[in-house]
Amino acid sequence: MQFRDLHRQYEAMKAEMDEAMLNVAASGAFIMGPQVAGLEQLLAEYVGVKHCISCANGTDALTLALMALHIGPGHAVFVPDFTFFASAETIAMVGATPIFVDVDEDTYNIDIADLNEKYYDIIENSSLIPKAVVAVDLFGQPANYKRLHEFCSGLALHLIEDGAQGFGGSIDGRRACSFGDISTTSFFPAKPLGCYGDGGAIFTDNDEWATLLRSLRVHGKGTDKYDNVRLGLNSRLDTLQAAVLQVKLRHFGDELKAVNHVAQKYTELLQGKVKTPVVPEGYTSSWAQYTIQVENRDEVQARLKAASIPSMVYYPRTMSQQTAFAELGQQPCPAASRLSQTVLSLPMHPYLTDNEIETIASHIINHN
Ligand SMILES: *Cc1c(COP(=O)(O)O)cnc(C)c1O
Repeated sequence: MQFRDLHRQYEAMKAEMDEAMLNVAASGAFIMGPQVAGLEQLLAEYVGVKHCISCANGTDALTLALMALHIGPGHAVFVPDFTFFASAETIAMVGATPIFVDVDEDTYNIDIADLNEKYYDIIENSSLIPKAVVAVDLFGQPANYKRLHEFCSGLALHLIEDGAQGFGGSIDGRRACSFGDISTTSFFPAKPLGCYGDGGAIFTDNDEWATLLRSLRVHGKGTDKYDNVRLGLNSRLDTLQAAVLQVKLRHFGDELKAVNHVAQKYTELLQGKVKTPVVPEGYTSSWAQYTIQVENRDEVQARLKAASIPSMVYYPRTMSQQTAFAELGQQPCPAASRLSQTVLSLPMHPYLTDNEIETIASHIINHN
């Protein structure tokens, strides 16, 4: 059994995919071919925002968003303590200071009460200027954007949505990657919408930021190709990846239905026996991960392993516990620290069968 079965996915769309990839090979337009602009338009329509700017990966997408918002040295940016490293790494890479905020143990997303506390702590006890919140749609579920919007607009903070895991989720019918002033995603193969290598995208309704982002992703280019008006990155999406993503996007609606079926089935079988994920009313998840919480994690993981069932710990260390951030001297957040000890992610993908789900669940529940 595979944790995320990309072979079954390829088999399900092989003819279309082979044709799309061979077309790119034959065209020779490997950089900024027509499939890139075509994909950007499709993604902007899907998400429901004005601009989509594709780029090389989800980490660059965050870096570019921070650059477009002129975030740098002397600035504080709030980010969950429980997330993938890139959410916080990019803040430090542009020279700003990441401030780690605790998360909600039901949704795994940023805890607004702790965000409020950390904000006033920075105002009162540091010389840093608070500039932005990077909210993460962890494991596929959008963060609490209703409250985040209130909080950020009241304090003139930018809201960045790190939707690397959230693409395809929604709140009250509105799609993920539309909730930030600038939102970002990743097309890393194992993400909800993945390509066949690295890829990423940035979303915004703001015309000025969109223009700036298009410049920043190609060496800070101006209107004249050989007059660079600012420093930027080399961060384009390959034409081949754009072609792959156009095929995958056609199947994405069906895949979302399938992962939601898998999640529902897991929850039916596991509820009351282990802590299962909580999806609040009005929210939908794209199920980048199905993550349970168990006190005896090593034991459960060993039992699964003995039955050849892969499982993963996302994440065994919080941001404040990362060696790279030790010099910041921030205390680990209590809920994030507890989660790092108890979370376990189970196989999750659209091609998992009911039989497989039942087998996995039985090995979690049965304590022989
Ligand atoms: C994967 C991921 C990223 C980075 O995306 P890459 O494409 O791997 O650079 C950023 N944030 C989160 C939450 C992620 O899961």
